[in-house]
Amino acid sequence: MWFFSDEEKLLQDTVRQFAKTELAPKIEKLDAEEGFNREAMRKLGELGLLGITVPENDGGAGLGAVATTLAFEEVATVDASTALSYLAHSILCLNQVAQNGNAEQKARYLPKLLSGEWIGGMGMTEPGSGSDALGMRTKAVKTPDGEAYVLNGSKTFITNGPCGEFFYCYAKTGETKKDISTFLVEKGTPGFSTGKKFSKMGMRASPTGELVFENCRIGIENRVGSEGESLKMMMRNLDLERVTIAGISLGLARASIEAATLYARDRKQFDKAIGSFGPIQERLAEASSWYEACRALTYTCAKMWDEGKMVGKEASMMAAKAKLTSAQMATKVGLECIQILGGYGYIREFPVERYMRDAKLIEIGAGTNEILRVIIARQMLGDAASG
Ligand SMILES: Cc1cc2nc3c(=O)[nH]c(=O)nc-3n(C[C@H](O)[C@H](O)[C@H](O)COP(=O)(O)OP(=O)(O)OC[C@H]3O[C@@H](n4cnc5c(N)ncnc54)[C@H](O)[C@@H]3O)c2cc1C
Repeated sequence: MWFFSDEEKLLQDTVRQFAKTELAPKIEKLDAEEGFNREAMRKLGELGLLGITVPENDGGAGLGAVATTLAFEEVATVDASTALSYLAHSILCLNQVAQNGNAEQKARYLPKLLSGEWIGGMGMTEPGSGSDALGMRTKAVKTPDGEAYVLNGSKTFITNGPCGEFFYCYAKTGETKKDISTFLVEKGTPGFSTGKKFSKMGMRASPTGELVFENCRIGIENRVGSEGESLKMMMRNLDLERVTIAGISLGLARASIEAATLYARDRKQFDKAIGSFGPIQERLAEASSWYEACRALTYTCAKMWDEGKMVGKEASMMAAKAKLTSAQMATKVGLECIQILGGYGYIREFPVERYMRDAKLIEIGAGTNEILRVIIARQMLGDAASG
């Protein structure tokens, strides 16, 4: 993009090189076996990139949404699973501790999360509440001495759940939908366990699982902010997640297009490169145009975020637009590119089918397509949206 700074371009080159050397050789096996590239997360820590949005005086890189989206795009071009785990760790967990935690919480948890010694995740979704996140049922009840809370309930579909050591978790501390508080939960806390690990269609090298709370005592020092005041912070983080996760869709689409373009140049049928056939050219031209359009929207939103212009409901709508269009585009482009490769697109020896399987997740996680359309339409229609 024309507005990337020299620092952002340097970051792009660094992450591109990292992806080539650290991720490319391993992803095929990890995808097949549903593993996790923990070593890569540590190396991202060594590069100073886990705390990409964390202020420099807290030990982070002090970069913004443009840089973060670029990093996710570059990682996802090679290994979208690691990009997803990186996003859960850095944006959903680490960034939140840095933004909302107090000095003691930051001193206690940031170093381990910044280095990658600990992997972090965020627990919002529950078995009975996905799109309706405020319908969560995990309860945190204050102990009579006021020193702690007792948590009961469970979270599901949590990225890094099965491999993480630390979770930024939401729970209800009152009767209304908005009475949401945040708790910092360490693996090994009595009454806290990581439940089932899910086997998935895509993003197979990003472990997903349950978090279970059974009379789990969390000291009051691990509550973030005031009791019942987490809703705003939760929603603001969702907006940032939507802008930056669009980078993963962009990376996947770019990888699909690059693979299909090379293939269309080389593959011959009827004594001609298949790239000489109209339907193949149309597919590639359309895919590349969709990608560029989504890229322009996503990085414009990220730039607006960095300049403090993404605030309030307007920000939520713009973030939803970037994520909705990019996510749909990446799945569609993935399918078109599989078609360009014919049979070779459908078998696992070529990575294009993986790109499409991975891309589909972004149409579901961080707000489904349907929910994002509701957010956009409500902002456009005002009161008329509710009939
Ligand atoms: C791989 C993976 C990783 C994830 N990582 C995390 C994580 O780290 N942390 C976390 O908290 N969560 C995570 N999630 C959860 C994710 O955010 C939810 O799956 C998502 O919000 C949808 O919730 P749901 O799956 O319960 O679907 P539901 O909300 O039950 O939706 C089912 C269907 O109904 C539609 N629908 C629901 N409400 C409406 C409506 N009002 N109007 C129109 N259609 C509607 C949905 O769009 C969808 O098509 C992850 C999910 C996956 C699959």
